[in-house]
Amino acid sequence: MDKQLNIADILEYAAQYNTDAEIVTRQVEGGIHRYGYRDALDRSKQLANALTKLGVVEGDRIGTLAWNTYRHFEIYYAVSGMGAVTHTINPRLFAEQIVYIVNHADDQVIFVDLTFVPLLEAVKDQIKGVKAFVIMTDAAHMPQCNLPNVICYEDLIAQESKDYTWPEFDEKTAAGLCYTSGTTGNPKGVMYSHRSTILHALSSCRSSALDLGPMSRVLPVVPMFHVCAWGIPYAAPIAGASIVFPGAGMDGASLYELIDDEKATSLLGVPTVWLGLLNYIDSINGHLDTVDSVVIGGSAAPRSMMEKFSEKYGVFPIHAWGMTEMSPMGSLCAMTPYLDSADKEVRMKIQAKQGRAVFGVEMRIVDDNDQPLPNDGKTFGKLMVRGPWIASGYYKNDDRSAFRDGWFDTGDVSTIDPLGYMQIVDRSKDVIKSGGEWISSIELENYAVGHDDVVEACVVGIAHPKWDERPLLLVIKKDGASCTKEDIIAYLSDKVAKWWIPDDVVFVDSLPHTATGKLLKTEVRAQYENHYLNE
Ligand code: ADP
Repeated sequence: MDKQLNIADILEYAAQYNTDAEIVTRQVEGGIHRYGYRDALDRSKQLANALTKLGVVEGDRIGTLAWNTYRHFEIYYAVSGMGAVTHTINPRLFAEQIVYIVNHADDQVIFVDLTFVPLLEAVKDQIKGVKAFVIMTDAAHMPQCNLPNVICYEDLIAQESKDYTWPEFDEKTAAGLCYTSGTTGNPKGVMYSHRSTILHALSSCRSSALDLGPMSRVLPVVPMFHVCAWGIPYAAPIAGASIVFPGAGMDGASLYELIDDEKATSLLGVPTVWLGLLNYIDSINGHLDTVDSVVIGGSAAPRSMMEKFSEKYGVFPIHAWGMTEMSPMGSLCAMTPYLDSADKEVRMKIQAKQGRAVFGVEMRIVDDNDQPLPNDGKTFGKLMVRGPWIASGYYKNDDRSAFRDGWFDTGDVSTIDPLGYMQIVDRSKDVIKSGGEWISSIELENYAVGHDDVVEACVVGIAHPKWDERPLLLVIKKDGASCTKEDIIAYLSDKVAKWWIPDDVVFVDSLPHTATGKLLKTEVRAQYENHYLNE
């Protein structure tokens, strides 16, 4: 049958069959909220009725500036289900970038959490196209604010009917919109369809991927404003899993409390979040007894972090890779018989890689002329991907330079080994070119954070009079640590080739990050551009 895929069908299914599952939220207003998929469906339908009355029609973009909560989940389904587009806005972007994307997307309504109301107040005169602002709270918590046309979320839906018939439309209809953080130039919009979102969710929840099922209690720390929390709001209800939403509590103590109280089994987030969590658990002699797996992605997972998760806390680390343009899931390192029986050294070497493509994603590496390179685990090349949930262009943007011959150039440089494991060497703009050879800044950083005194490390290529570029290592030390530059260099010396060793190590108090938590290397390079030229 030619039944078209519609995101709303996921919630209809979950409401009917996943009756044991819970959606638990640490509320922005304080306290814990819990309900089931049936309640979520009813409230999504109430919201769809309310949005229809507000004049929202198919194709309209509806913005959200919000944490991971049950209300954000309801918006995902109501907006996409009625044929409009859920546009998640990353509140960590600069104000001028938020103005740019709200106007570029032409958002008609914006849903906003209490935390981010001041952010919108500051730019309200520059986003005049927005017809209404819905504050995601109840009447008792409504703030004083100077936004025009303000509506309280609970008031908006309170009187609405729970009956709503989702419209039928082509599965290629736009459902979600997410902008890349854009370290240079303006952010670029990536549009997801009902079809791409559902295929991505079906593939990612399988046991050979995120391994979600009715017994899972999945805690996505990765924000719903960053590539839809890696698709968990769609994958979990398909799999029958419960979801634990952390709200605004992203620090180690809040996460630990939620994991422990709610018996979370699967966690997903970026390395910096896990650093905070692990430091906290170490400090209180805590445990992660309920947790089976932790997905680490968005930046390379350091070996030291994976060892701590698996050896100290008995949690299987799943190293994953992807990007906004890929919905985001591209590859991951799932458990296999080979990995299970391999000795520790071999296993760690494999798990340090970004993994094998999930079903639906094809990967290859190519040279500067886009000619395929061998999968020998050694040859570096530009990583190209294609598949049904990979973008074919940017929204209202003519730049097609990354889309060539039916493939998308990820901007990453990687190797692929004969078993199909892909390893990111670097972003192509971050790879260090020293005397005609390439050095991986990521690999150096991963080794550096393995040193006991190091909290965070950043390696950049800096112009050098003799070698073109040489690596510079910046390090944030642990409080009270006394290590020296010589200690760090000695520590690295038996781990990488001699010519990879950074020429200098600088100790710093902080490092700049992008809105999605990655090291902002453009800024570091600019700050240290003359470091080796002045020697
Ligand atoms: P942004 O909006 O900041 O570009 P994305 O989340 O789309 O955010 O970033 C995607 C990029 O993040 C990838 O192209 C890759 O460079 C990096 N990345 C993601 N996961 C990993 C990983 N496991 N290891 C190394 N780099 C990663």
